[in-house]
Amino acid sequence: MDFRDSPAEATFRADVRSFLQEHAPKDYVHAYSQNVDDEVLLRNNRDWQRTLYQHGWAALTWPREYGGRGQGPIEQIVWNHELARAGLGESLFVVGIGMAGPTIIAHGTDAQRERFLDPMLRGDEVWCQLFSEPGAGSDLAGLSCRAVRDGDDWVITGQKTWCSGAHYGDWGILLTRTDPSVPKHNGITFFLVDMKTPGIEVRPLRQMTGGEHFNDVFFNEARIPDAHRLGPEGGGWAVAKTTLMHERMAIGGIELMSFRWEDFVAHANAHRERIDGVLRDEIGRLYTSVKTLELLNARMITKLGRGEMPAAEASVMKLAMARIVSQGGEVGLRLLGPDAMQKDGTWQDVFLMAPSFHIAGGTDEIQKNQAAERVLGLPREVQPDRNVPFDQIARS
Ligand SMILES: Cc1cc2nc3c(=O)[nH]c(=O)nc-3n(C[C@H](O)[C@H](O)[C@H](O)COP(=O)(O)OP(=O)(O)OC[C@H]3O[C@@H](n4cnc5c(N)ncnc54)[C@H](O)[C@@H]3O)c2cc1C
Repeated sequence: MDFRDSPAEATFRADVRSFLQEHAPKDYVHAYSQNVDDEVLLRNNRDWQRTLYQHGWAALTWPREYGGRGQGPIEQIVWNHELARAGLGESLFVVGIGMAGPTIIAHGTDAQRERFLDPMLRGDEVWCQLFSEPGAGSDLAGLSCRAVRDGDDWVITGQKTWCSGAHYGDWGILLTRTDPSVPKHNGITFFLVDMKTPGIEVRPLRQMTGGEHFNDVFFNEARIPDAHRLGPEGGGWAVAKTTLMHERMAIGGIELMSFRWEDFVAHANAHRERIDGVLRDEIGRLYTSVKTLELLNARMITKLGRGEMPAAEASVMKLAMARIVSQGGEVGLRLLGPDAMQKDGTWQDVFLMAPSFHIAGGTDEIQKNQAAERVLGLPREVQPDRNVPFDQIARS
C-alpha cells in the first residue's frame, strides 16, 4: 500500500487546491444542512455549480466530449478529499452529475445526451432518484410501480419513497415495472421524468432532525413520453446497474463522513473538562476507527493506481463509515454534557442523521453480504424468486 501521492496525483492535488483557494465560496450550504431554507440552498449550490462549470471542473470523470474533464477515479477521490477539506461536502447535484449523467452517457440516445447533460453541468436542473418503494429497497428488483404503454406515452402508477431532494428536483431517474409476466429483473424499464408532470405528487417526510429532505412520490397516471425512456423496454435493470455502480462510488467515500476529524478534535479540546477515563477510551476507539478508514481508503486508491478495480472495498468502507458516524455522534454529544439537550447544533445533527448512514445506498447487512461473498468467499445468497415470473412471486 502506498500512502503518498504519485507525482501526477500531487500535481493534480496542487491544481485543485489552488483552484479552491481562489474560487471556493465562503458561505457554502451543505445539501442536508438543517434549518436552511430550500431557496437559499438551491441558490447557493447552483452558484457554486456554475462556477465549477465556468472553470471546467463540473464533472471530473465524464468524457471531454460531454463537458467533463475525462479523468479517472483516483482524480475523483483526490478532488472529493480536497472539497471535504475545504468544507464543501454534499451538493444537490450529486444525483445528477454523479449518477444520472453517467447513466445517460452510457445508455442514452444522442438526443437525450444533447437535451440533459449540459443543463446538469451548468447547475440549471437538479435531479433526484426515484428507485426505492415501500416494498422494494434492498431487493430493488422487486419494485412494482407500473408503466403501461399508451401510444407514444407511458402511463405511470405507483409509489416511490425515500427520494432525497424530490421536492426541489426538476428531473428524476425512475425505475418501473413494464412486464410483470417475466422474472423480476427482466420486466423493468428506466425513464427520465420531468418532476412537474401532472399526476406526480411529492410529499416530504419529516425527519427526527426536524428537517424534510426525503419524500414519498406518488404517480397517479402520470404520462411520460417514450422519448424519455432510457435504454430498451424491459432492459432497465442493466441501466440501473450503471446508476448503482456510480452511486457506490459517489457515497462510499471517506470524505462524506458527515464530520471532519479535525472538527471533532477541536470539539473535544473545547470540552476537555468533560473527558474522564471512559470518554478518553471512547475517543481513542473513534480515532482508531477513523485511521482504519483512512487505511482502507489508501488501499482502494493504491488498487486503482495499479489499474485494478476495488471489489468489496467500497462495501467495507461504507460499513466502517456508518459506524464512525454513529460513534462520532454519540461521543460528540457526550462532550456537550447537558447542552446536548438543546435542539440545534452540529453534534446533535450528526447524532440524529447517523442512523441514515446505516441504510442509505445499501444497508449494513447488504454490505456485509457483499463482503462475505467477495472477501470471505462464502456461498452466494439464495434467491428463490430469481427465475420466477414477477406476477407469480408471493408478496404481502
Ligand atoms: C437518508 C436516505 C436517503 C435515501 N435516498 C434515496 C433516494 O434518493 N432515492 C431512492 O430511490 N432511495 C433512497 N433511499 C432508500 C434506500 O436506498 C433504501 O432505504 C435502502 O436500499 C434499504 O431499503 P429499505 O429501506 O426498503 O429496507 P429493506 O430492504 O426493507 O430492509 C429492511 C431490513 O432488512 C435487512 N435486509 C434486507 N435484505 C436483506 C438481506 N438480503 N440480507 C440481510 N438483511 C437484509 C436490511 O438490512 C434492513 O435492516 C434513501 C435512504 C435513506 C436512509
